[in-house]
Amino acid sequence: MEQALEQLQALLGKGKVSTSPSVLEQHGRDENFPEVRPPLAVAYAESREDVQTVLQWCHTHGIPLIPYGAGTSLEGALVPVHPDNPVLSLDLSRMNKVVSIQPDNFLAVVQPGITRTALNEALRYTGLFFPVDPGADASLGGMASTNASGTTTVRYGGMRQNTVALEVVLANSEVLRLGRPVRKTSSAYDLKDLFIGAAGTLGIITELTVQLHPIPEHVHTMRVFFPSIQAAAQAAYAIMASALPIARLELVDELGMQSINRYMGRGYKEQTALFLEFHSSTAAAIEEEVHLVEELMHDAGASDISIARTQQERTEQWEARHRLYWAIVNAHPGHTFIITDTAVPLARLPELIAYAQQLLAEMGIQGSILGHVGDGNFHTIIATKPEDYTRVQAFSERLVRQALAWEGTASGEHGIGLVKRGFMVEEHGASVAWMHRLKAIFDPDNLLNPGKLI
Ligand SMILES: Cc1cc2nc3c(=O)[nH]c(=O)nc-3n(C[C@H](O)[C@H](O)[C@H](O)COP(=O)(O)OP(=O)(O)OC[C@H]3O[C@@H](n4cnc5c(N)ncnc54)[C@H](O)[C@@H]3O)c2cc1C
Repeated sequence: MEQALEQLQALLGKGKVSTSPSVLEQHGRDENFPEVRPPLAVAYAESREDVQTVLQWCHTHGIPLIPYGAGTSLEGALVPVHPDNPVLSLDLSRMNKVVSIQPDNFLAVVQPGITRTALNEALRYTGLFFPVDPGADASLGGMASTNASGTTTVRYGGMRQNTVALEVVLANSEVLRLGRPVRKTSSAYDLKDLFIGAAGTLGIITELTVQLHPIPEHVHTMRVFFPSIQAAAQAAYAIMASALPIARLELVDELGMQSINRYMGRGYKEQTALFLEFHSSTAAAIEEEVHLVEELMHDAGASDISIARTQQERTEQWEARHRLYWAIVNAHPGHTFIITDTAVPLARLPELIAYAQQLLAEMGIQGSILGHVGDGNFHTIIATKPEDYTRVQAFSERLVRQALAWEGTASGEHGIGLVKRGFMVEEHGASVAWMHRLKAIFDPDNLLNPGKLI
């Protein structure tokens, strides 16, 4: 193997292959998979040609690879199926350039390693922004590969809706361009969408063309507090049913609010809250909408409404939401975390949240419930010690089973990775056999992130 790695080093050039133990460890783990399984080596691609070279090397030596963007994904997506499976990690973070920004077309062409905040920084003077904002500063290649979403997905859509074209390198090193830089197409099979959410199992994304949106002129942000999580979930449903143009609709439970206050020194009320935002082109329209929301929230039993009046207050509110996971982590040193991400049809959301809460109580587990409720998607974050892992995992499995029974999905946004593969037949039935056939067409030697998803 040493010789093969030396060959890879020679093929790629200096400084592109690492076997340093800390680098290997960083590439063989994630936030919620309980084990670290380091790869053989990490290869850093700096160009599409490097990706092709690595794939040819993998083919020659029969070594599979796992693509790596920013490493923020969950569910073991970056971890090999078995601890003793030799795999190469292909790190794409150095392919982080903006290829072009086309303000007139509301498009940007980027390399896969660019992070969402770096892209928005590059857009700073255009009056446009890229909306998909998972809590972590993920790479666009990784986000496309998990079909990521975030706080603004309820208004602007997730990665699938915001990616119009991809360049991918297949397992046999062939380069394909999928999709067109248009807002809508009805042309042929949509292979572009097949690669979105594929977790690198079908090919390596080497370029993305993504949609940009005008920064809204008028923004209204508020926190609405409720005496119970059920009341907050019902209120969220009422907002969705009202057809109000909501841009962000996030639920944070009482424990979550406590964690934010402790971690970030905030003085928010420690009750379940909805964090809301509306975007509009005129001040008059937004005033009217906000008035309607306030009425709706009072009718739904809101106990208090706080309005973020300045840009700073708005930034602070969303910063608190984005850092909530780290607030919870900080409150539980030495723990690992199980994070559920089931989604259900909207009308079932309050019921599933109530079910999760009941189940936590019944199983004697403490967990925080939060999430992008406008998408029918919420998380239960549970801090666990190794001796409790199986019991907490059993909670997660029961929650997924209930979501599936209510026509929901095992994963609203994090993906299946290694952890949720067991639910795929239950969720997708006979189509899983067709997914295996598709995988075999694109990757007959099973070189690309083997054993994931299905
Ligand atoms: C605190 C926290 C909050 C989070 N909040 C959210 C959230 O709100 N919404 C959400 O959707 N997710 C969230 N996540 C999960 C995570 O941020 C997303 O899954 C994100 O999309 C992963 O992107 P990444 O660049 O880190 O990808 P990685 O973790 O590096 O990779 C993700 C998957 O994509 C594959 N991959 C990576 N790059 C490529 C490529 N170029 N071509 C092909 N395959 C590739 C990898 O093999 C892997 O299977 C959160 C995670 C954390 C830690």
